[in-house]
Amino acid sequence: MIPKSLQVLGTSATIIFGGFVTLNFASTITIGALRAVTEAKRKKVAAPCGSCKGKGFYKCKLCKGNATIKWSPLYDPIFINPCLCPTCDGNRVQRCLNCLGKGFY
Ligand SMILES: [Zn+2]
Ligand SMILES: [Zn+2]
Repeated sequence: MIPKSLQVLGTSATIIFGGFVTLNFASTITIGALRAVTEAKRKKVAAPCGSCKGKGFYKCKLCKGNATIKWSPLYDPIFINPCLCPTCDGNRVQRCLNCLGKGFY
C-alpha cells in the first residue's frame, strides 16, 4: 500500500506539471495569435511597396532578367562572355531592397 503523503505529493506534482504545460501551451498560442494580429495590422496599414508593386522582388536590374551578364575582362567586344549574374545568381529576380522582400512597408 502506498503511504497517503506520497500519494498526495504525486497528485500535486501532476497538477503543477499539468498546469505548467497548460500555461506554456496557452502562452504559445497567445504569442502566436498576437503575432498574427500584429502582422495582419501591419499588412492592413502598410502601403504596398512601390518598387516591387507588393511582390517583394523585381526583375534583376543587373542582368535585366536574362540570368546572365555580358562580361568582358578586357573590355574587348570580341571576348564577351556570358556570366551568371552575381546579383540574382541566375534567378532572374532580385529581392526588393526597398521593402526587403516583404512587399510592403
Ligand atoms: Zn541578375
Ligand atoms: Zn519592394
